[in-house]
Amino acid sequence: RAKELGRDGIAIFTPEMTATVRRKLSRTDELRQALLRDEFVLHYQPQVDVQTGSIVAAEALVRWNHPGEGLVYPGDFIALAEETGHIVPIGEWVLQRACKQAKAWQDHGLPPIRICVNVSARQFQEKRLIETVANALSESGLDPTWLELEITESLIMKDLASSIARMHELEQLGVKLAVDDFGTGYSSLSALKRFPLSRLKIDRSFIADIPHDADDMAITAAIISLAQKLDLEVIAEGVETKEQARFLVDSGCNEIQGYLYSRPVEEERFHCMLENNGRIHPLLPL
Ligand code: C2E
Ligand code: MG
Ligand code: MG
Ligand code: MG
Repeated sequence: RAKELGRDGIAIFTPEMTATVRRKLSRTDELRQALLRDEFVLHYQPQVDVQTGSIVAAEALVRWNHPGEGLVYPGDFIALAEETGHIVPIGEWVLQRACKQAKAWQDHGLPPIRICVNVSARQFQEKRLIETVANALSESGLDPTWLELEITESLIMKDLASSIARMHELEQLGVKLAVDDFGTGYSSLSALKRFPLSRLKIDRSFIADIPHDADDMAITAAIISLAQKLDLEVIAEGVETKEQARFLVDSGCNEIQGYLYSRPVEEERFHCMLENNGRIHPLLPL
């Protein structure tokens, strides 16, 4: 025990802390084994073009199929994985799996869509990210233009200079970059111009209270027009109601993601949605 604790960098702890620390250690151990045991799965959530009602992209979202607990959501393990470094191999698995899946859908003759993959802070800082992305692309045979990496705004701003350098390296691979949870961080607007970005993803927290919160509506509309002026694509996440979709469309946002269209679903279910793509318009008329 003491040795394990030492390795975890924890030297002093009170008896009350022991239970917490022990739980965390066993969780960490489970996390490490989860990859070897192939317990992670990806669910896919559609991103939809509001004008046509067609799915234009899928965000890959990881879940942990825990042997005793059932499906565990990222909110319950990503932070620990980030802290312990397990996020790096997990993130590699996610990239490989997502690229293979996107290519498999294309090979089935389904209309090609973007595949969007979340990249964590730790993963983004790792030198081998570039190699990991390149490998995921070459092993799957997926054309890089179909892969979009989602990076949070707060991550980018943490070390602006090195973030920009890393983003340029990724751009060289031909992949697209999106800023996730946009509006929650502290981007200097002038810095935005220097990023090789394709898209801003407006954070869910600004969408949730539309049409009741005038401030959120003003901020959302401002982000959309900022994106347009900087020649960036813009998407809103967490869209749950037709009123929200209506407001977004009227403000010039052309893509949305959220429960209104679909929750994240398993691969087979997403395949079916793609087979009917463009023929079912659950959004229309708004
Ligand atoms: P995110 O990247 O901002 O992903 C969107 C989250 O919002 C997802 O939660 C999704 O299920 C949820 N969501 C989508 N539409 C709606 C809606 O209309 N209403 C509400 N209330 N929620 C909606 P999820 O899957 O639990 O993921 C949470 C976060 O965990 C993600 O936020 C992302 O930051 C992280 N995450 C997920 N998968 C990965 C991954 O493979 N790697 C890394 N590093 N992080 C991941
Ligand atoms: Mg995301
Ligand atoms: Mg987000
Ligand atoms: Mg979010």
